[in-house]
Amino acid sequence: MTIHETDYLIVGAGAVGLAFADSLIDEDPGCHITFVDKHAKPGGHWNDAYSFVALHQPSAFYGVNSMAFASEAIDTHGANAGLCALASGTEVLAYFEKVMNLRLLPSGRVAYHRLAEFKGRDESGIATIRGVISGEETRIAVRRKLVDATFYQTSVPSTHTRAFAVDEDARIAIPGDLPDLWKRPDAIPQSFVILGGGKTAMDVAVWLIEAGVAPDRIHWVRPRDSWLNNRKYLQPGEDFLAATVESQRAHLEAFRAAQSGEEVFERLEQGGYMLRIDPDVTPQMYHYAVISEGEIAMLRRITQVIRKGRVTRVANGALHFGDATHPIPEGALHIDCTARAVPFAAAENAGPQFRGDTIVLQPVLAPLVTFSAALTAFLEVHFPDDATRNQLARPADLTDTPATFPYAFMMNLMNRGTWTQTPEIAAWLAKSRLDPTGPTIARMSAARDPRLAALGGFREAVMAAMPDVIRLGMAAKALHDGQTAPAS
Ligand SMILES: Cc1cc2nc3c(=O)[nH]c(=O)nc-3n(C[C@H](O)[C@H](O)[C@H](O)COP(=O)(O)OP(=O)(O)OC[C@H]3O[C@@H](n4cnc5c(N)ncnc54)[C@H](O)[C@@H]3O)c2cc1C
Repeated sequence: MTIHETDYLIVGAGAVGLAFADSLIDEDPGCHITFVDKHAKPGGHWNDAYSFVALHQPSAFYGVNSMAFASEAIDTHGANAGLCALASGTEVLAYFEKVMNLRLLPSGRVAYHRLAEFKGRDESGIATIRGVISGEETRIAVRRKLVDATFYQTSVPSTHTRAFAVDEDARIAIPGDLPDLWKRPDAIPQSFVILGGGKTAMDVAVWLIEAGVAPDRIHWVRPRDSWLNNRKYLQPGEDFLAATVESQRAHLEAFRAAQSGEEVFERLEQGGYMLRIDPDVTPQMYHYAVISEGEIAMLRRITQVIRKGRVTRVANGALHFGDATHPIPEGALHIDCTARAVPFAAAENAGPQFRGDTIVLQPVLAPLVTFSAALTAFLEVHFPDDATRNQLARPADLTDTPATFPYAFMMNLMNRGTWTQTPEIAAWLAKSRLDPTGPTIARMSAARDPRLAALGGFREAVMAAMPDVIRLGMAAKALHDGQTAPAS
């Protein structure tokens, strides 16, 4: 059997693997990279997404460093009017295909094994991959490192395994089925039941309302409500710098005054920086989702919200929650939005990113996963050893709840502080399109833009808040570690 050779074998050609490779080939022009991925096309879970999915953050700081999205302009209509464009799922897929086909493969330094599964690596560093359709095995000698770009274990409705039973006569669908309803007018249900409280469920609710479904035809099972970032404070570029800094100052002030993570969110809500759908319900979840005030207004129109925990069985006419039941109109269409996009409690492969002959890509600035991967490639090339690299970018775990969020915030702030004080990294940030603020501030400084005054005293505000960030952050870390510890 032929043994191929490569410097870096990247398992996963999703957003994270691609962002890492894109940065690596810029920083180390001599290296060779091989991708292995089970999907038929680059882009990972975006291949499996529902057709009306879109980024919830601006396209302007998503993807890879070297390539912008086709449109990063300001939206002029819809719920996102006045804010930077959000690429649709189709655009995201086309973008990643372009990254692979027009940038990485033509470099002559990248090999891509699609429809192939990584099976492991032996002691001599030789990896085995197997074609998922062909069944053929290929061996690859990894000269430098194996790069695990599968840490997030993204799970979406079309591929996940349901954790509840569905009776034969109950109607169940996934979000991707909804746009096809027009093909069978006789099958359009009178009632819809959305299962799940996360961003996918919110996308489905907005889609139904925009499709003209009256809110009283919609029932919504929300096991937990969520805090949501107000998108107008998460915008890149000169015009939005003042709002971004205002929001960051509000975060610091909230940390100084609060006694818990939960209180941080209550304080941020008072300034409009955090949003929730139901003002009478305290959210128990925070997954960094970003939303506009317009979408919140639409979601509030749905008032038949069922809060009885997680569904265990879907029957025709009733939902079961363990021993409890809830009546639902017969013939209702249930939409499964219960996949956990990112399993926030999964700590399986957590630890430092650099581990000798392996790199495990993780967030180092939560929740910016593609930024984190691109920076990690820069560290791999420009810093001499794993201890230094790990010191420069410690994982900032994606936390699950308002109570544990201060841990991620603390890690973000500490990492940012380290980067600002490391000239090579500061210079890289100033030109990285994946950093929402770095290039903006660099451009404004070069142009002596008077709007930079918004940053006045910001560094001092960070220093003043740091003791309280650490106070809440360490308490949150203990909670987070308790939630994510592997079962013994
Ligand atoms: C609907 C949705 C919207 C989102 N929106 C945003 C957003 O706006 N902004 C944001 O920052 N994040 C967003 N996210 C988070 C998202 O997880 C990341 O943006 C990113 O796409 C994750 O990429 P990934 O490469 O880590 O994972 P994936 O996309 O899951 O890619 C991992 C790849 O690894 C492959 N793989 C796994 N195991 C193996 C193996 N053994 N052998 C071979 N291949 C393997 C898989 O086939 C897959 O292609 C969103 C997530 C979802 C679900």
